[in-house]
Amino acid sequence: MQAPRGTVKNHALTKLKPGSSLFTRQLRWGLLIALFLGTLIMLYQGGSDYQALRTVYDQTNERVINSTLAVAGTAVRTGDVALATAVTRGAMVQRSVAAVQLVTANGNVLAEQHRDLDLLPQNMWLDGFFGGVVTQNVELYTPTKDIAHKIAVGELRLTFSPHVYIAALYGRIKLSFFGVCIFALAMTFGIACVSYFIVTKPLLQLIDYMIKVNPIDTNRHLPLPPPYRHDDEIQLLGSSMIGLFALIRNKVEKLANVTEALQASNQTLESRVEQRTRELNDVVEKLELLAATDPLTGLANRRALMGRLKNAIAVWKRRGTRVGLIILDLDHFKTLNDTYGHQTGDVVLKSLAAVFGNVLRETDLPARVGGEEFAVLISDEDENGLMTVAERLRRAISEDVITVNDQTITYSASLGIACLPVRNEADVNDGDGMEGLLRQAREVESIIDMLYSVADKALYTAKKAGRNRIHAGQSGSIV
Ligand code: GH3
Ligand code: MG
Ligand code: MG
Repeated sequence: MQAPRGTVKNHALTKLKPGSSLFTRQLRWGLLIALFLGTLIMLYQGGSDYQALRTVYDQTNERVINSTLAVAGTAVRTGDVALATAVTRGAMVQRSVAAVQLVTANGNVLAEQHRDLDLLPQNMWLDGFFGGVVTQNVELYTPTKDIAHKIAVGELRLTFSPHVYIAALYGRIKLSFFGVCIFALAMTFGIACVSYFIVTKPLLQLIDYMIKVNPIDTNRHLPLPPPYRHDDEIQLLGSSMIGLFALIRNKVEKLANVTEALQASNQTLESRVEQRTRELNDVVEKLELLAATDPLTGLANRRALMGRLKNAIAVWKRRGTRVGLIILDLDHFKTLNDTYGHQTGDVVLKSLAAVFGNVLRETDLPARVGGEEFAVLISDEDENGLMTVAERLRRAISEDVITVNDQTITYSASLGIACLPVRNEADVNDGDGMEGLLRQAREVESIIDMLYSVADKALYTAKKAGRNRIHAGQSGSIV
């Protein structure tokens, strides 16, 4: 689409600094070059004018002398004043003659004429050119062919002035200077105008077109460059521009497609990663559970129990909460295995887990710590409470009846219990800082060992005392 003429100026030309457009630059330089060349031509012209006028001036002066000489000689020889006056007047006809005198041999002025030099055109170059004002004295002789015996009869004194010639030369130079100036101006302006219409204007239209076209806007058709009639460089520039825009649009479209595809695959990737992360978290959860669970009974294993014990002891150290431990070992389990088989033994172990579930609270933690050895972490119970829980457990186990292959099986367990002593207010909150924390960590490990060994020894005592019973360890020996 072609832009209206007004907007071409507004859009493209206004972006240029004043005087930096092609047109003004061309005008400036064209004028300078034309003036320079014009001056050269003018100087050449002036030089040749000077040469020509100088020749005319010299020849005229010589002709004046030659044409006057014979008559002047007669006038002087005969003393004819009238003739002498006529001769001098005749010489004065030439405008280069400023003064003329006819003088006799004894020095009398027979006739003379002169012009007022001040009335002639004055010029500063008067003395420099044409040799200035000069006077020539020409001897006059008696007419004879014998040059050796000729006798001087007087003198013709002629004063020549180049005023008129200089004025003529000056006039010509002035004329040619103005002529050259007018010619240079006209030529320069003419050429600048032509190049404005041939180059600048179509360029401005192309620039305006280029500014308006947005090759990235794929919702619109690409407009064509402004119409141009000639098959020249401007035309080539226009077609190159549209080609370039088409190329840019093509690349932009491809880029948009690639970006879209990339975004889509990114989303897919993100949702896949999300799904995988969820699956991984599930697996980690399951693994953590498995790592903390005994596979046969589904109870916590030794590792999980130790973790909970550490936490409980840390809280006991900070706040003085109660921590109790029951260690439980099935009585004569080897015999049970030998009598009913190993698989029946497993069923008994699972049944025991169910008994734990029925008797214990949510906050208590039963764990399988060995083959038929179990431990229960009891929170918030003093020694009496711990004993009550242990007794409930012992009784529930001894009353548990299992039927396998029409065989009724009962079993019992011996229990050893231990609990941490109640902490004083003064003991609570000791050991601040990193050193204190490390010491506490070591202490926790040793407290667990001691608690466990007290409960274990109590179990051993219960076994020794006849089994299916509970023995309480000495809590005071722990800390
Ligand atoms: P005590 O009253 O002195 O504890 O006698 P006990 O027979 O229970 O003691 P002992 O340590 O001699 O025997 C433990 C038995 O427990 C031996 C082993 O066969 C059995 N046992 C250990 N783990 C399992 C298991 O996972 N399943 C089965 N069925 N039996 C197990
Ligand atoms: Mg055992
Ligand atoms: Mg046993």
